[in-house]
Amino acid sequence: MDQRAKYQSHWENSEVLVNVPFSAAGVGTTVVLTSKFTGRIMLMDVGDGAVRDLLDSTGTTSFVFDIDLIAITHGHFDHVGGLHTLLGFMRMLGRKEPLNILIPTHCVEAIRIIKGFRDCYPESLPFKIWYHETSQGSEFDTDFFKVKSFGVEHFGTECNTENEVLMPALGFRVQVGESIVAYSGDTRVCSGVEMAVTNADLAILEATHPVTPDTGARVHLSVEEATELGELARAYILIHRIPETDNS
Ligand SMILES: [Zn+2]
Repeated sequence: MDQRAKYQSHWENSEVLVNVPFSAAGVGTTVVLTSKFTGRIMLMDVGDGAVRDLLDSTGTTSFVFDIDLIAITHGHFDHVGGLHTLLGFMRMLGRKEPLNILIPTHCVEAIRIIKGFRDCYPESLPFKIWYHETSQGSEFDTDFFKVKSFGVEHFGTECNTENEVLMPALGFRVQVGESIVAYSGDTRVCSGVEMAVTNADLAILEATHPVTPDTGARVHLSVEEATELGELARAYILIHRIPETDNS
């Protein structure tokens, strides 16, 4: 069996192709939307291995020029870990078109990756990189993708204390033609993710926990919770599962 298949998902209608070439909690997640009208691409999160997975799934390097927009849900490493590589690959192949990247307001991880990359190559970067800090209700439209951001509730401990804090985190609702594709990012059950997915043509939901935990601060959705949210949309796929261990 191809072991990668259990980490992959696909969905499409007449207007948009949704490809998740790889998603596993704590490893990497990348969601690829391709407009069937134009072939233009939007990435939601850029996990480790995104360039390798895009090469593998498209069979070509042309995605370097077809990527119209990138949206990052939050700064955890499994959602931004492939961004430096992707920017480097774009530079190597000579992309010229400016690149817009949506990030949650104050998402320091994404800001530092982008600024660090720009600072490394002040004279030899053939394309501009613009990041846009967005929050609940923000809208950002390109000629190909119309994006609305929803604040979601996701805890992180990667700060200067041991305390778990709500980190800057977004879900996205993207319109391609008349189709709506929603993505939860990482979240617990909250009004933001409910609004993002309701009546979408497709909801892409993280479903990290196999079983709903009894207590404690909820960091992620369970399969049961994600399924309930998914049923608010016309179709749904569950991603961001915990990688299988030898015992599972
Ligand atoms: Zn996370």
